[in-house]
Amino acid sequence: MGKIITRFAPSPTGYLHLGHAYAAQQAFSLAQNQGGICLLRIEDIDHTRCKSEYRHAIYEDLDWLGFDWPIPVRIQSEHKAEYWKVIETLRDKGLVYRCFKTRKELPEGLYRGKPDPYEDSRIKAGEKFAWRLSIDRVQDHLDETNLPFSDEVLARKDIGTSYHIACCHDDALQGVTHVVRGVDIEPLTAFQNLLQRLMGWPIPKYHHHALRLNDDGDKLSKRNHDTSIRSLRAEGYTRQQVLDMAKP
Ligand code: GLU
Repeated sequence: MGKIITRFAPSPTGYLHLGHAYAAQQAFSLAQNQGGICLLRIEDIDHTRCKSEYRHAIYEDLDWLGFDWPIPVRIQSEHKAEYWKVIETLRDKGLVYRCFKTRKELPEGLYRGKPDPYEDSRIKAGEKFAWRLSIDRVQDHLDETNLPFSDEVLARKDIGTSYHIACCHDDALQGVTHVVRGVDIEPLTAFQNLLQRLMGWPIPKYHHHALRLNDDGDKLSKRNHDTSIRSLRAEGYTRQQVLDMAKP
């Protein structure tokens, strides 16, 4: 069997906190324990939220924590054309449609839509649209029924791609064999497996780890500056102390 490949894939929307330290440790140690490698991937397709300053801080903080990763690091914002090709492939199979709706126009719960009957004139008028996966058409295509998914957005109006597309594309491209990530993302995995089937990509193994919560039992956020790796470091904690504090 080949080497196992895991990845740690943070988004540079703020400084890394204890939750990330634990997630990184999970991904890096699974690879290390099995003689494999752990990649670092920067998931920064959302230019409205990501900053290069935070990307450099990620390198610095992970390095201080003692992690080591192969170079070059994949930076997703540099590969939007590749992600667009995936949408085109699905479009050529007739599995996606343009959606002009705003968030407010969408119903709660499972969403299934249809191509807009006025799409030509709306395109001409310069209206922005997202591309959604049509679960009805996917069901016909796979000859399956009752898939428990909404018509998820695969290309957002504002950024032209989506987390699902970039993440699954890169996991396949980079030969990721084991996806190690938090239980908060577990509900998204089945949908990503569907995309992988449609694209003929391998389906990695998944390990969803527990989350490091704060004292109130809430998820840590990048706004909780008190748990950021760099503030703990500045307070004089050692790398090992920070890793110990990061355990859920
Ligand atoms: N970029 C995502 C995050 O920071 C990671 C998603 C994943 O590991 O698939 O939460």
